Amino acid sequence: MKIFTTRKSLGQYLGQLRNEGKTIGFVATMGALHQGHLSLLSQAQQSTDVTVCSIFVNPTQFNDPKDLEKYPRPIASDIEKLEQSGCDILFNPEVNEMYAGNEQWHLELGELEHLLEGEFRPGHYQGVTQVVHKLFDIVKPDLAFFGQKDYQQFMIIQKMVDMLKLPVKLVMCPITREPDGLAMSSRNIHLSPEDRQHALVLSKTLNWLKENFDRNNILSLQKECGILISAEPGVKLEYFEIADGSSLKAASSSTKNIVALVAAKVGNTRLIDNMIIGIS
Ligand code: AMP
Repeated sequence: MKIFTTRKSLGQYLGQLRNEGKTIGFVATMGALHQGHLSLLSQAQQSTDVTVCSIFVNPTQFNDPKDLEKYPRPIASDIEKLEQSGCDILFNPEVNEMYAGNEQWHLELGELEHLLEGEFRPGHYQGVTQVVHKLFDIVKPDLAFFGQKDYQQFMIIQKMVDMLKLPVKLVMCPITREPDGLAMSSRNIHLSPEDRQHALVLSKTLNWLKENFDRNNILSLQKECGILISAEPGVKLEYFEIADGSSLKAASSSTKNIVALVAAKVGNTRLIDNMIIGIS
């Protein structure tokens, strides 16, 4: 695997590969890699000639400085995992390589920016679009792979791609889970053994909802799910929303494409999860 830390050197190398007619698949990450990240890489490898993975803990998308500070950064073991997975290129820049001074960024993302995650993490999606735009500009991927785990993030990035007519196709990859159902996340390492057990309420509730979706109306189901999660010790619910998967606004009985999304603090760790419920 080739490792680059500067935009210029990566850009030049990828330019040569593009001239040879190679297609480029891109997976953007913040590191502390797990099977979820590697499943994105695997899908990229199946679809394109050259796979580029980035590891960059992007400061502009963190609204809580403590969260940024404690974000795990096990770069040596990440490199090993990427080598073992057959990744072609790692881009691992420092912050000052990505941001020059006090630059401004604002994209008019509309309502989607302020719903759900946007409500609890103000400014988060401005930071996400800022860094993903930079990364797309450097890597110029044909295909970019993002996880359904961050469903709203996928929609936001798709919106940016459409608005700015960026020449990249986005691919949404399914959520990779631990055998007991917990969605894999770099933040899971912060969970104590007790937290880890309590955190299962998120995926259990989403599964319960999927199985019982026809049992009651949407509002009652949403309430029931919220109560189930809030009843779990150590878990503080931020939102549980049964939403229209194409707008993330509250679903109604006529919504076709339904997705349930949840965020909660488990101990001191903020977790998100979601499930596509399907056609109503
Ligand atoms: P992150 O490093 O958390 O920024 O995530 C990098 C990419 O991996 C994003 O596209 C995430 O949606 C995706 N991802 C994170 N966790 C999972 C998971 N459990 N399953 C599938 N994709 C994931």
